Amino acid sequence: MYDTIIIGSGPAGMTAGIYAARREMKTLILGKELGGQLIWASEIENYPGFKSISNFELISKMQEQVKNLGVEIKTEEVKKIEKTDDKFILHTNKSQFEAKTVILALGLVPRRLAIPGEREFTGKGVSYCATCDGPFYKNKTVAVAGGGNSAVDATEILSKIAAKVYLIHRRDEFRAFEALVEEVKSKKNVELVLSSEIKEVVGSNKLEKIKVVNKKTGQEKEIAVDGLFVEVGRIASTDLVADLVKRDEKNQIIVDEKCQTSLPGMFAAGDVTPVEFKQITIACGQATIAALAAYQYIQLNRENSKINNKIVK
Ligand code: NAP
Repeated sequence: MYDTIIIGSGPAGMTAGIYAARREMKTLILGKELGGQLIWASEIENYPGFKSISNFELISKMQEQVKNLGVEIKTEEVKKIEKTDDKFILHTNKSQFEAKTVILALGLVPRRLAIPGEREFTGKGVSYCATCDGPFYKNKTVAVAGGGNSAVDATEILSKIAAKVYLIHRRDEFRAFEALVEEVKSKKNVELVLSSEIKEVVGSNKLEKIKVVNKKTGQEKEIAVDGLFVEVGRIASTDLVADLVKRDEKNQIIVDEKCQTSLPGMFAAGDVTPVEFKQITIACGQATIAALAAYQYIQLNRENSKINNKIVK
């Protein structure tokens, strides 16, 4: 029986692991992929202590710290969670675990464009990670969809690898930092395709072209590309706990000031909660609260059962 099982191995999951271990809690971290959303980042320049650090270096430093504290980490996907009177039972794709408390550090998953061909060509030209898949497009032609920091960041990364990058955004104003937008605008191999939506992804064995419509003129055109990077934001994927905890209209898990969900003993931290600013440091802060609150919950339960035993005697 674990004191706590943390689901998610991104910065929130790792921080919760550190704090739980330092309270001598028997702790297990379960994650589909080590690093969570950090695997989609590139250089991180807003994490205290590091002027600049690569995503993979930060992940491995966190992992090392957590393991040194005695926390177990397993790469397993949680498929189902059951709650009994005094514990949680977690069923993964490989096995089953029991815990007194659970901390959900599920992060977010990429939003899809939901257009014909997107699913079919995922992994065959359609990607959701410029840092991971960018190097496959050396001297090729790619497109990026989106108008936020992720899309503009991806465009900047790809402009150094690909021969040509189309940045396709549905409006003519960006959400991204102005300096970043100016930087990509100044690149000779970047072409902005504004007020435009991608309607379809087309190819035979792999992606060959995208169909784009200008929302102002209604004019349609085809652009030949080898790759399409979809960077249109991220969404909460929380069906796993749909029957257990209260969620908001965006499927984010509602928590109180102690990161406690509506189900006693189940806590949540990081981007999966309705916190407005989705930042690594905020996720770490919430995870600190969640781990300490989980510890407090176990202590209170222990005290209560001692009192109950005395009354029975
Ligand atoms: P975001 O800021 O929510 O931007 C998503 C973009 O995708 C928006 O421009 C949106 O268009 C567009 N979009 C959404 N759904 C679409 C659809 N179905 N079809 C076409 N376009 C669609 O998401 P993000 O860029 O992933 O950033 C998420 C958070 O991480 C933000 O807070 C961001 O600042 C942060 N971030 C920071 C950095 C950094 O500090 N360097 C890097 C990456 C991300 P509209 O503009 O028309 O809504």
